[in-house]
Amino acid sequence: MKEKIYTIPVTEAFQQDCECPLCLMEEKLEEEALEYTLGASMMEPDSRIETNKNGFCQKHFTKLNNLQKNRLSLALIIDTHLIEQNARLSKAYENNSSLIAKECDLSLGDGLVNKLKRKKTATQEFLAEIVQVLDELEHSCTICNKINFTMDKFIDVILYLYFKEPEFFRLFNSKKGVCIKHLKLLLLGCQKYLDTKNQAIFIRNLMSQQVTNMQRIQEDVNWFTKKFDYRFKDEPWKNSKDAIQRSIKKLVGPADLQ
Ligand SMILES: [Zn+2]
Ligand SMILES: [Zn+2]
Repeated sequence: MKEKIYTIPVTEAFQQDCECPLCLMEEKLEEEALEYTLGASMMEPDSRIETNKNGFCQKHFTKLNNLQKNRLSLALIIDTHLIEQNARLSKAYENNSSLIAKECDLSLGDGLVNKLKRKKTATQEFLAEIVQVLDELEHSCTICNKINFTMDKFIDVILYLYFKEPEFFRLFNSKKGVCIKHLKLLLLGCQKYLDTKNQAIFIRNLMSQQVTNMQRIQEDVNWFTKKFDYRFKDEPWKNSKDAIQRSIKKLVGPADLQ
């Protein structure tokens, strides 16, 4: 049996009526990670090492701020993250600054010779290096890392239960599919965790469920558009009142929609 700490959230989410049980799991993980970041993580040296190094992505910095909780903790986390990142940036620049300074006086001829020799100038080498550093910083996030790690465990558990527990197999097949983001995660997981026969069985069931439900949601949105047509204005809304929100979530996964 797979670890209980992962099976309970999986079965709980699959018991809900929703467009994507994996979104429910991810939203819960995100909520817990945000709380932890502003709470206990402050006192954990390992967490501080990670937040100093990785910081947070734009979405999670925004959420940490908008929670308007534990402002001192958040400020302390940002303070040491900035100290580490500032040191990284200034070191990268200082290592190259004298060569860059020399190239400020590069003549047109030197520039052409370099170009002909396809030789990179020190400034160009620095550019490539610093863009990579910034790219890493932009895409690193302590909370995303945590969510991705646990979501991978959840996928493993889902695939395990699917083939080992007939009740879960029936439950999974009775759902409305998942969102596009988590469809990809399930497909990648099936590559990673299943043998070839079970891959085929799982993909056949998952994809037919997904196609049917993507059509259903498109029809819901389509009915929503029809309700703006005077010929349908007295018709019932059917299941389309929240079709915009549900279809956006079906396309992109967890999203804070109003
Ligand atoms: Zn989802
Ligand atoms: Zn993030």
